[in-house]
Amino acid sequence: YYKISKALIVLCLRCIVLITQAQSRTWSFLQAPKEITLKLIRDPVTLSLASTDYGHIVHDNPFAIFAPSSISDISLLINFSNSLAIPITIAPRGQAHSIHGQAMTNDGVVVNMTELNGFRNGDGIIVVSDDTTATTIGPYADVGGEQIWIDVLHATLERGLTPLSWTDYLYLSVGGTLSNAGISGQTFRFGPQISNVHELDVVTGKGDLVTCSAENNSELFYAVLGGLGQFGIITRARIALGPAPTRVKWLRLLYNNFSAFSGDQEYLISVNGRNETNAADYVEGFLLLNQPPQDLSFYPEPDHPRITSLVTQYGIIYVIELVKYYDNSTQEHVDEDVNFWVEELKFVPTFMFEKDVSYEEFLNRVHADELFLRSQGLWDIPHPWLNLFVPASRISDFDEGVFKGIILQQNITAGLVIIYPMNRTKWDDNMSAVTPHDDVFYVVSFLHSTGFDKLEEFQAQNQQILQFCANAGIGIKQYLPQNKTQEEWEKQFGPKWKTFKERKAQFDPNSILSPGQGIFN
Ligand code: FAD
Repeated sequence: YYKISKALIVLCLRCIVLITQAQSRTWSFLQAPKEITLKLIRDPVTLSLASTDYGHIVHDNPFAIFAPSSISDISLLINFSNSLAIPITIAPRGQAHSIHGQAMTNDGVVVNMTELNGFRNGDGIIVVSDDTTATTIGPYADVGGEQIWIDVLHATLERGLTPLSWTDYLYLSVGGTLSNAGISGQTFRFGPQISNVHELDVVTGKGDLVTCSAENNSELFYAVLGGLGQFGIITRARIALGPAPTRVKWLRLLYNNFSAFSGDQEYLISVNGRNETNAADYVEGFLLLNQPPQDLSFYPEPDHPRITSLVTQYGIIYVIELVKYYDNSTQEHVDEDVNFWVEELKFVPTFMFEKDVSYEEFLNRVHADELFLRSQGLWDIPHPWLNLFVPASRISDFDEGVFKGIILQQNITAGLVIIYPMNRTKWDDNMSAVTPHDDVFYVVSFLHSTGFDKLEEFQAQNQQILQFCANAGIGIKQYLPQNKTQEEWEKQFGPKWKTFKERKAQFDPNSILSPGQGIFN
């Protein structure tokens, strides 16, 4: 009885706190300017949509959703929050493809960035190829922070241009990926998306709309890029463009030996591998595991049995994914260029497979998977993802301890496991994004999707991987970091923590922005 009464009292107190909080929020908003209150949405369906994300792991209940119809609305909302004795937290939400509630807020206001699309009236992406001021930086696109990359691709292709650095999946917002880094198989060559931005418009946590670049207001520029939404809301980004190819040679090479695989990946991203014009344009990799379901749709059907038996024989096969872009003018040499690197590589003889597709089909490849998964009801399910940056000097230990020691040994079906290296010189250390110290480091992504019944097992496996790395002293950094204690955040940022904190005090002194990251709240 004692225990039950105690639990009931705690529950009642919690309810009282929640009701009082909601009342005080309502009271606060009664004082807000009309331009704000008219754009607050509080119907249960909209509230519930904003209380979840692609991860389906965290659920935070916002007080309201804000539908801005201009950039100045966002400033107004932030100014209003800062004017309160207890400021309201504000979470910009791009496409909510975060995994762990990063675009959510409990009892605060979620800013639905996609509403800005309406305000821009179709002018969210402006491609500039012939502006005289562009001569020093080359062609660029001025893109609203709410825009998604697939639309940027379409708008730029119309002018024969393209961004240089991508993510694997293109239905992500520009503001959301620039708040992390934005990485894919082009990163080794062009750097992450944050390294391909000339200028930003940002509404800071103080409510000021500031244009910033490496030359002007550089502290804000560097803070925001990779800044996990902590310093301001990106409302425009000037993105570097280059000439667009039309087609790609798309190769997959299978390895049964990890050191041959990683050696070849590092060769391909090294200066040797990138000899003059015949450099690879994209290098990624992933694991083929002896577990159903294996997606072999890339490979010709007659080859499926021998691929399956190779995987069965070794338990784990490493696949390099390589791409060379071409167009009419380079078509003649493309096979020669591809052969130039392939001759040097140590994949299992005869296990090289090739496709020839349009540039757009290649870049938008994950969308085909999305459509399939949606049709099977397998898109809106929990995604206990873990993304790590692993120093190249410890990648063999990681293979032994994690791929062979944990993933292969456990009886849960792994999702897609991606692994590919990148060059640290292509990252700008002034920016908030963090990487390991090695000149070359790998991204390793465990992209699990599961039912709620298995969620805890995957979360436990992720913890085991992190624990292994800690015990073995592998200096990893988390990409799209999540769920950290204060001490872990300090460790994640390492020497950058002091600057990160100072920038927070400078640009968002009341810690109102992106509370779902869980860094300052
Ligand atoms: P949201 O989840 O909406 O927001 C992310 C964070 O940024 C939140 O803290 C939010 O408050 C903040 N934020 C949102 N908009 C703004 C803004 N305008 N200004 C400031 N802060 C803002 N990432 C890669 O790098 N490479 C990949 O290949 C890749 N592939 C993916 C594939 C899938 C299927 C999914 C689901 C995710 C993938 N990601 C990848 C991760 C993705 O880049 C990040 O989750 C990114 O944050 C998603 O963008 P979003 O618009 O959904 O951001």
